[in-house]
Amino acid sequence: MSLTPVSSPVNRPQLQEGATTPLLGSSLAELTSWVQQQGQPAYRGKQLHQWLYQKGARSLLEITVFPKQWREDAAAVPIGRSQLHYRSVAPDGTIKYLLRLADGNLIETVGIPTAKRLTVCVSSQVGCPMACDFCATGKGGFIRNLQRHEIIDQVLTVQEDFQQRVSNVVFMGMGEPLLNLTEVVGAVKSINEDIGIGQRSLTISTVGIPNRIRQLAEYQLQVTFAVSLHASNQQLREKLIPSAHHYPLETLLEDCREYVQITGRRVSFEYILLAELNDLPEHATELAEHLRGFQSHVNLIPYNPISEVDYQRPSDRRIQAFVEALKEQHIAVSIRRSRGLERDAACGQLRVNQGE
Ligand code: SAH
Repeated sequence: MSLTPVSSPVNRPQLQEGATTPLLGSSLAELTSWVQQQGQPAYRGKQLHQWLYQKGARSLLEITVFPKQWREDAAAVPIGRSQLHYRSVAPDGTIKYLLRLADGNLIETVGIPTAKRLTVCVSSQVGCPMACDFCATGKGGFIRNLQRHEIIDQVLTVQEDFQQRVSNVVFMGMGEPLLNLTEVVGAVKSINEDIGIGQRSLTISTVGIPNRIRQLAEYQLQVTFAVSLHASNQQLREKLIPSAHHYPLETLLEDCREYVQITGRRVSFEYILLAELNDLPEHATELAEHLRGFQSHVNLIPYNPISEVDYQRPSDRRIQAFVEALKEQHIAVSIRRSRGLERDAACGQLRVNQGE
C-alpha cells in the first residue's frame, strides 16, 4: 500500500499535523500517512479508517484501541460528523433528518427503505441557487456548498439510524451537485471506496449546468447520471426552470449525447409531471422525438405539492396515459413512486424551515 495519496483533482490537500480539515472523507492511504505524521505506527491508519467509516466514531476520544495519551492530545482534531437536529418518520417508513453542520447551518437528508434496499437521498448544498419554480428548496435561496465530509456524514447517519447497510445513494436532496462538482466527486469516491457502496448504486442528478456535464464525464465514474429535463421544449422549460434561459434544450441534449460517448453509460431523464402543463399527449410525442435513438431512460416524477405554487399532480389515469404514449414511441420509461410525501420528505419538498 502506498503511503502517499495519489494526486488527483479530487484529493484534498494532504492532512497535516495541526490541520483542521476533518478526518472524514480521507482515504486509507491519507489516514495512514496522517497517523504516521502523528508519530504512530502505520496500522493505526487502518484502525482509524474502520472507526470512522464502520464504527461511526464522532471523536478521536472514542477510539478505545488508540493509546490514551494520543487520543487526548489529538482530541481537538475534527472528525466531521453532524448533529441530529430533527427526525421525522413518515407512515411509509421514510425518515427525514434535519442535520446541523459545524457552522450551524441545517441540511436535509432522507432515508428511504424498501424491501431490498435502503436508499439515502443526500444534499450537496445548503439551499440551492437554481430556483426551479416547482421546488421547495429553491424558494429558500442558496447558502453554501457542502464539503465532502458533510455529504459522507449523511450516508453514515442514515446507516447508523436504520442499523442497516445503505445500498443506494442519490444526489437528489437540496442543491445542484454540478455546482459543487469537486466535493461531490470526492464524496462519491469515498462513499464507494471507504463506505463500500458500488458506484453503480449511486446517482447524480442535475438540472444541467453549461460545460459541467463534460467535466463530470471526464471523471469516468460508473454512477447513474440523471438529468432533470421536465419539459419537452425550450419555451416550457424556461417557464419552469429559470437557468434554462442560459442553457438551450438542444445544447443540453447535445451535452448529454457527449456524456454517453465519453462514458459509455446511458443517461436517465427525469420528467416531473404537472397536470395540464407538460403531461399532454403532444408533450410525450415531442419528448420522444428529442430522445429518439438516444441511449436513455425516462423517469416520470408525479409532482409533489409545495405550498408556494399551485401546480397540480396529474391523476393516475393521466400519468398512465403519458407512460403509454412514451412506450408506443419506444422510449424506456418508469414512474418514480413518491416516498415520504406525508412528512414533506419527497422530491422537491426539502427545505430548512421544518421542525424548528
Ligand atoms: N438539483 C438537482 C437535484 C435535486 S432535485 C436536480 O435538479 O436534478 C431531485 C429531483 O426532484 C429533480 O428531478 C427535481 O426536479 C425534482 N423535484 C423538484 N421539485 C419537485 C416537486 N415538487 N415534485 C416532484 N419532483 C420535484
